[in-house]
This record gives sequence, C-alpha cells and structure tokens, in this order.
Amino acid sequence: MTERVECVVIGAGVVGLAVARALALSGREVWVLEAAGGIGTGASSRNSEVVHAGIYYPTNSLKARFCVQGKHMLYAYCAERGIPHRRLGKLIVAAEDAEVPTLDIIRAKAALNGVDDLEWLDTADTQRLEPALRAAAALLSPSTGIVDSHALMLSFQGDTENAGGAVVCHAPVLSGSTRPGGGFMLRIGGDEPMQLECEVLVNAIGLRAPDIARCIAGIPPETIPYAYLCKGSYYSLAGRAPFHRLIYPVPEAAGLGVHLTLDLGGQARFGPDVQWVEHEEYDVDIRRADGFYAAIRRYWPGLPDGALTPGYAGIRPKISGPNEPAADFVVSGPAQHGLGGLVNLFGIESPGLTSAMAIAEHVEGLANRRNVS
Ligand SMILES: Cc1cc2nc3c(=O)[nH]c(=O)nc-3n(C[C@H](O)[C@H](O)[C@H](O)COP(=O)(O)OP(=O)(O)OC[C@H]3O[C@@H](n4cnc5c(N)ncnc54)[C@H](O)[C@@H]3O)c2cc1C
Repeated sequence: MTERVECVVIGAGVVGLAVARALALSGREVWVLEAAGGIGTGASSRNSEVVHAGIYYPTNSLKARFCVQGKHMLYAYCAERGIPHRRLGKLIVAAEDAEVPTLDIIRAKAALNGVDDLEWLDTADTQRLEPALRAAAALLSPSTGIVDSHALMLSFQGDTENAGGAVVCHAPVLSGSTRPGGGFMLRIGGDEPMQLECEVLVNAIGLRAPDIARCIAGIPPETIPYAYLCKGSYYSLAGRAPFHRLIYPVPEAAGLGVHLTLDLGGQARFGPDVQWVEHEEYDVDIRRADGFYAAIRRYWPGLPDGALTPGYAGIRPKISGPNEPAADFVVSGPAQHGLGGLVNLFGIESPGLTSAMAIAEHVEGLANRRNVS
C-alpha cells in the first residue's frame, strides 16, 4: 500500500515534535512517524530538563544561536500554555581561588553569545544565596531554568494535531529513496507496514539520524557524519538538597563537571557523567558514583557518605568522537546535500531541548526551499 502526505518528520522527540508543529502551523500537511509506542522515549525523556542560558557554546555556533533564541521562545511558550517550568537560576562555582579567573572567561564568552545577565558573586554573596555552598566566587545565571519536557512535548503534539497533523506511533522508518521528479519514498515497518510518498522529509531521530540517512538512497554519503554514542548516568540524592538553584563547577576540559540539577519537585540529582558506549543501553552502575563524592565535596563539603543512589541514564547523539572537539549541531539542508525538501538533523545533543523551537523555526524555513543555493 502506498500513501501520500506532504511532509514527514521522522522521530517524535522534542525536536521532531517542535518541527512538526512549526510545519503544521505554517499550513503544511504533516505526519510524524515514531518507532516507539509513544512520544518522547529517547533523549527527550532522559536529560536534565534544564533550560540552558547559552553560556559556554562557541561564538557564532548553531548551539549558541539556537540556545539563546530557543530559550526565549520556550519561556514565552511555557508561560502562554501553562507548561510547568521554573526560572530558578544557576550558579557556576569557582571552588578555589585558582578557578576564579575562569569565571571571567566564561562571562566574556557568554556576553558574545548574547547572554549579558550573568551576575558576579563573591564568597559572602554566595553564602547568602546558598549557605551550604563552598565558593571563592561564582556567577549567577538568572535565565537558566527547568521545564517539564513531557508536558512540553504533549503540547507540541496537541498543536500539531489541532493544525491537522498526525503523530503515528509504532511506525519505524526502515529505508527510503529520493524520487526522480523530487520528493521521497519511505518504507515503514511496524503494525501497519506501508510505503509513503512525501515532498518534505525531516530526519529527527536523534541517536540514529546518520544511520537512517544512510538507508535513504540518493542522499550523498559524504554529507552524513558518523554517529557516536555517549552515555551519561545520573545519581539521585537521598533526601532534600540544601540548594535552591542549579549548581555547576567551572567546566572541565571533558565536560561541564559533576553538577547538581533539580527537578520541578525539588529532587536533586548529580550528573550526567561521560561514558562512550557502542550500543544503546541505559543501566546505571552505582560504582560509577564513587568518583562523584570528591568532585561534589569541592563545592558542597556537607555531602553525606552513601547519599547517592542510581537514577537514570541518557545517551548523547554525538557526531564527534572521544578525543575530538565537540561538534556543533548539523542542520543539513538543500545547500549541503542538494535535495530540495530534505533536512537531516545530526548531533542534536544538549542544548537540544532548549533549542527545539528555534531549530524548528529554522527547519521550517529550509523545508520551503526547493533549490539548493
Ligand atoms: C544525558 C543528557 C542530558 C541532556 N540535558 C539537556 C538539558 O538539560 N537541556 C537541554 O536543552 N538539552 C539537554 N539534552 C539534549 C536533549 O535531550 C536532546 O537534544 C533532545 O532531547 C533531542 O531531541 P530529538 O527529538 O532530536 O531526539 P530524541 O528525543 O532522541 O527523539 C528521537 C525519536 O526518534 C525515534 N526513532 C528512532 N529511530 C526511528 C525510526 N527508524 N523511525 C521512526 N522513529 C525513530 C525515537 O524512538 C525517538 O522517539 C540532554 C541530552 C542527554 C542525552
């Protein structure tokens, strides 16, 4: 059986749903095809749910641009729709005097990204805000917050459906091809296998986006990056944390360091750590928490022994390997691969949740372009 629809978005994570919403609101006919039984079971439900300010990303990168723009769009949308969120702020902590100059570098970089609201705090200021914290100095990011990512995705799905779109679960895309006159043919498995023709195709399947792009005949292979999987495990804190804001140490070469985030119920967790893996698996090994205690006690000396318990894990959809500089988001459109109507989203790791609405606006613009210039 061959069906026809104008636009297909593959993957019902937060980015796929945001893109589908943007396409549907612009008057397009859209189907979202999702392999799993429900929306948001990938990275979109295995993250910190932090609305990032846009502080650390390289100047002029897509991560910096989409994060700052996406943050404003997200807060406005959440306020309008009553989606649970809190702009509770984040502290970036220099635990020792030797780390204080790094705060200056971070503040300057943030300003270049358009984040000019960081506040400098000395030891006494930080003690007033967070008495349990040990800090030589800190930066307060007032625009960092948290959001209920599932409520957000449900709202995106609702907007898509209200505008005439559909989210189809149990519909894994297996392969596809470009059609001679333009457009795409997809082979769908699952409950009701079928072939589907579309004019616009957006690949938003996160971890496996490069793999599915390779299964669509006609996409130039040199435009498809290699996929690396980088697992991050979280450890929950038994009992209440004595903090009211998110707490991050100054970043390390390998990542953001062992930081504390809070969920909307006030529960604290530490992580995610960094573990390169070959296959998708989400077990959390309690032994990996052993290394957390010393790192956390640098800024929270009062962390009790044995307070960390296994939480959950997520996998970052990386397109740069362990010893390479972190890659930017890749939004591969007609100018990259020469195929009108196709957008591949590669390497949409953090801050992808924060950036989702800005990415969607950009993709909606690209999807309208029939030429390749
Ligand atoms: C540990 C961790 C922490 C993070 N923390 C934050 C944070 O605090 N703030 C922030 O802004 N960002 C954060 N991120 C990043 C953010 O979670 C992701 O960028 C975002 O969720 C990506 O959404 P997505 O829709 O692209 O992918 P996903 O959520 O992975 O969705 C992809 C979907 O595609 C489906 N799929 C897969 N294969 C197929 C197929 N063949 N056919 C059909 N469907 C298919 C999957 O089932 C899945 O539902 C974090 C990520 C991780 C891993």
